[in-house]
Amino acid sequence: MKYIIIALCVAAFIYTALMIVFGYKRTKKFFNNKVTTNYHTHTTFCDGKNSPEEYVQKAIDSGMTVLGFSAHSHLPTEPEWTLSKEGEEEYRKTVLELKEKYKDRIDIRLGIEQDYWSDTSDLKAYDYVIGAVHSVNGEDTTWSSIDYTHENFLYGVEHYFNNDRIAAAERYFELVSNLYDKTKCDIIAHFDLITIFNEKEIEETGKPFVDSEAPRFIAAERKALERLAKTPVIFEINTGGMSRGRMTHPYPSDRVLEFLGERQIPVILSSDAHKTEDLTYGFDEVLRLVEKFNLNLITDYKDVRNRQEESK
Ligand SMILES: [Zn+2]
Ligand SMILES: [Zn+2]
Repeated sequence: MKYIIIALCVAAFIYTALMIVFGYKRTKKFFNNKVTTNYHTHTTFCDGKNSPEEYVQKAIDSGMTVLGFSAHSHLPTEPEWTLSKEGEEEYRKTVLELKEKYKDRIDIRLGIEQDYWSDTSDLKAYDYVIGAVHSVNGEDTTWSSIDYTHENFLYGVEHYFNNDRIAAAERYFELVSNLYDKTKCDIIAHFDLITIFNEKEIEETGKPFVDSEAPRFIAAERKALERLAKTPVIFEINTGGMSRGRMTHPYPSDRVLEFLGERQIPVILSSDAHKTEDLTYGFDEVLRLVEKFNLNLITDYKDVRNRQEESK
């Protein structure tokens, strides 16, 4: 009899413990609708409008818990929007000083948005790396840019892809699929940035700028997803195109989000802020996509890094 009572007590204890753990997870998923971390910000060290300290002040005022800086890595051909060589030193020093100064109030992280064509090699100096493709030809990053202006994009398509816009998209996704191997990045930036002009173009002309429904486009996108799914990378849900008024949907598309949800590949919310007002732009709104596609949302900084550590 005594043993039966002990066994019942143990069973009740295990049941209660399981309920607490799983019940908590469910509650967290449905009711904790506030994300207080952002790892994708640009300051005056590259093409952002505010200083790092202004971001820190804004983040603290908004109740954020983690603030990551991710300056555009140095590209010799793009001094307008990337770190200069000397600027990179100063950038690191400034962020590390702020990290120390504000350590009791917010968790500050030193990151970098490493462009595919960048020659920055000392990535170990950073807490985390966001890998990104902004141009499809390393010899001519300006005129093969896919997100700057229509004019740049079309010039590149004419000169390097025989006027075939889908061929440029195929190349873009090929480069994106290679981002982890090339940079060992923790996070993939704006996975389908090449769709940047589509929403406005459809509004104005009825047709997309680059046809993201074309079978060749979908095949290239899928191939990149399949390849990256085998690596430990995290994908961004990036609201940068929304804050700049280019689109009403974040990167990536619903089709990509569906893939990420099905595979339970981790995602984070990133605002790709270029000014302090955009620090958590659209986060509450896009959280509905997290629910809709059952996405595996990561908000804890340690989870961002541990993915890499685990895979070593
Ligand atoms: Zn970018
Ligand atoms: Zn960025």
